[in-house]
Amino acid sequence: MPAEASPYVVNFPTLWVVPAWIQRHCIIPDGFRKGRPFRPYDWQLWCLANHYRIKPTAKQDPDYLAGDPDAIPIRSAAFHNRRSQVIAPQKTGKGPKSAAWVAAEGLGPVLFLDWAGENDAYVCEDVGCDCGWVYRYQPGEPMGHAWPTPLIQLLATSEDQVDNIYRPLQAMARNPRLRGRMLVREGFIRLRDEGGDPDQNRIDVVTSSALSRLGNPITFAMQDESQLYTKTNKLVSVAQTQRRGAAAMGGRSVETTNCYNPAENSTAQQTFESSKKDIFRFYEPPPAELDYRKAADRKKIHAFNYRGSPHADLHGINAEAEELMETDAAQAERFYGNRLVYGASAWMEGDVWDARAEPREVPDGTAVVGGFDGSDSDDWTGIRLQTRDGYQFTPRFADGRPMVWDPKQHKGQVPRLEVRDAMADVMRRFKVVRLYADPPWWSTEIDDWAELHGDTVVIRWSTFRTTQMHAAAQRLLTDVGKSDSAFTHDGCDITKVHVRNARKSPRSNERYVLEKPSQAQKIDMAVVSILCNEAAGDVTHDQLWPKPKARRKVVVMR
Ligand SMILES: [Zn+2]
Repeated sequence: MPAEASPYVVNFPTLWVVPAWIQRHCIIPDGFRKGRPFRPYDWQLWCLANHYRIKPTAKQDPDYLAGDPDAIPIRSAAFHNRRSQVIAPQKTGKGPKSAAWVAAEGLGPVLFLDWAGENDAYVCEDVGCDCGWVYRYQPGEPMGHAWPTPLIQLLATSEDQVDNIYRPLQAMARNPRLRGRMLVREGFIRLRDEGGDPDQNRIDVVTSSALSRLGNPITFAMQDESQLYTKTNKLVSVAQTQRRGAAAMGGRSVETTNCYNPAENSTAQQTFESSKKDIFRFYEPPPAELDYRKAADRKKIHAFNYRGSPHADLHGINAEAEELMETDAAQAERFYGNRLVYGASAWMEGDVWDARAEPREVPDGTAVVGGFDGSDSDDWTGIRLQTRDGYQFTPRFADGRPMVWDPKQHKGQVPRLEVRDAMADVMRRFKVVRLYADPPWWSTEIDDWAELHGDTVVIRWSTFRTTQMHAAAQRLLTDVGKSDSAFTHDGCDITKVHVRNARKSPRSNERYVLEKPSQAQKIDMAVVSILCNEAAGDVTHDQLWPKPKARRKVVVMR
């Protein structure tokens, strides 16, 4: 990543010996630099560091360390993550990276051995590699050792697609540092040598037309292009079976994929949306404010997406994306734009929202209504206010910070006291006529506010009610879209992105609910905006806006 510090900070124990092993033993499989040592890019290193992240509490079985032949060493239980998923655009070098990863799982020190003491080292000669490499551990660093009888499967949708990984893997197997220990055979790769159990020590390929070894206990699975595994082609269950096979051995798995189509419920999507915390998911979408449909923005998006993969030819990528745009814009945006695009089901056109931005000051004492959506540790929490004449804005603290909270910026938890202070500040500064607040997570606070400011002012408004929420979302959509509407807003950067992120997910009776396109792409401020506008509409309908005060009191003397 030129001219920029790496954004990745590894502040946890991990098997650094694995990427070091890869760099020593794997080569660049093709292109101008073919045959040179394979050096993982920063983002690839980040994926490896997370996949081989060791729990600080991991402990090796003392009997195993003492050489008891019956003792079985700790395997997957030593790792922080049970499996990994890498989502990256086309041509970022996923194939060679996956091939190197597979080679390491076949021959390298990918299991936790123990914590290093003084003068501990990984010595290639000790494990039958004559390359002469020695890796010296820092004291306290986790040490690795290899699987005694590795059995690895590559999963792909077709023979053609297997080649994404299998071809670079074959090139790596033939280079001097792996030659003799990775033997390319007809349809599989033999690991170590021809001796030993022929059903172990091998790398096999599994496709939907070649399921022969499926269900065997395995030590590692590389599931390539998992955005193409669907229920229809039966690969969703194949991938699950494979993962069960790995779990049975204490093995693990990795999925690599392009952005999936959220309409297909593929393996990639299921993994990405899973609530399980022990899956490492790598996904870095481009900045949300860039619009893939605009040629200039498209180039910026590509520059962002490929910034960490300098071998990628941006010129060629721009050209291929342009061609694909003509026939399948959504696919182009997924493949090269690295966005989880649903196709046409965006809730509101971002440009239409932006066109309503007319930022201005709202003086203290102004009558307003408000919307509040509270979260806990994942989604965001925020407040929006709206004046009688239809101006909606995100209130700010005296120091200028918007009253929006991303739990990530607060050690993973929304700062409840600060939110309470913010609400008190809003209530003090403005004449709040009505506040609609979504109760989950925040019912205690909402009850307190209702007690303080009146239960006709602070009202619980549950956003999970499909009918009401759909109507409110439609109301804002109409107010923003129709030409004679008075609706304007402050151009709040966060709300703008959340409005763009919001997607329509169909429900019965032609209704929809709003969804985020991915865990990382939030929509909370769009929901707050909807609640706020709903409150404004209801207050107007019920004629509850306070009468504007006369500018000057006229005292009539009689
Ligand atoms: Zn070696």
